[in-house]
Amino acid sequence: MKAIQVIEPFRVEIVDVPKPEITNPDDVIIRVTSGGICGSDIGIYNGTNSLATYPRLIGHEFGGIVESIGSAVTNTAPGDQVAADPVISCGHCYACRIGRHNVCRDLEVMGVHRDGGFAEYVKVPAANIHLYHKKFDESLLGLAEPYTIGVEINQRAQIQADDRVLIMGAGPIGICAMQVAKRNGAKVIMTDLVKERLYKAKEMGADEIVSVSEENLEERLDRFTEGEGIPVIVDTVCIPSSFEQAVKLACPAGRIVCLGLKNQPSSICMADITKKELTIVGSRLNNHCFDEVIAGFEDGSLTPQKLMTKAYNYKDIMDALTMITEHPKDVLKLVLKFN
Ligand code: MN
Ligand code: ZN
Repeated sequence: MKAIQVIEPFRVEIVDVPKPEITNPDDVIIRVTSGGICGSDIGIYNGTNSLATYPRLIGHEFGGIVESIGSAVTNTAPGDQVAADPVISCGHCYACRIGRHNVCRDLEVMGVHRDGGFAEYVKVPAANIHLYHKKFDESLLGLAEPYTIGVEINQRAQIQADDRVLIMGAGPIGICAMQVAKRNGAKVIMTDLVKERLYKAKEMGADEIVSVSEENLEERLDRFTEGEGIPVIVDTVCIPSSFEQAVKLACPAGRIVCLGLKNQPSSICMADITKKELTIVGSRLNNHCFDEVIAGFEDGSLTPQKLMTKAYNYKDIMDALTMITEHPKDVLKLVLKFN
């Protein structure tokens, strides 16, 4: 079968590899219909993703149709439309034992630490398979994973109805987190430097948008919260100064979600955290968030069709990578089609 392999940084090829076979009773083989290209895939391609090893069959956002199942599989059957959770954990470390397997000590993500789903077929453990219940457009089956990042963010920040939420950055993660927050009944204000992204955020459901190069964010937050200050901040910008700004902006008893993976320190005053008794949490990957995402796809509150900027045949992966690197402002999510 064909698969997309990053041989080494800046060298991506369509390779011929053996089609996966059932070897364990809980194996599920999926005929992949679509995958989403993520910023972290770009990082594997250009050598800036410190977690990746080479050569690597990439792709952690993928879905498709179940082709075959092992003898012990009961949660799915051939022909089902499914999404696959790329998170693989050990099951017995501290994090796994307390139900936080997405930060397993020996965490492996398909498409990053081990081979992924940008291939005609992929083998996934049954526990990582999640069913679509309604017939869904095949090119969108791979877009559940980015929305699971949004669900995890909402869970980590305990976002609930009527919460006022500031999402810094209107890229794909910001937009997914926003749609999930809206689904949870919150009111969301989003920032970015790029107007096109802000208009897209508004179109997809953000209550308010702020062009931070032109407007005073503090004034806007003041109006948005009737002077109370913002209680929930999601930082998808992930630079040292955005984290510093979040700690300054949060109101007393506020919650801040961090998503950055860069090893750059921020200058944070302890007193800001102590005096306001802030809750600062990390959010990584997803912890059993697929079923909530699929429910959102099916009730129409989450709109992957609007997240998708354009679909490419997987053989045109280089065109897609070029589009993302040369026109980042115009791209929210590019999809690869495998059929
Ligand atoms: Mn992703
Ligand atoms: Zn573990």
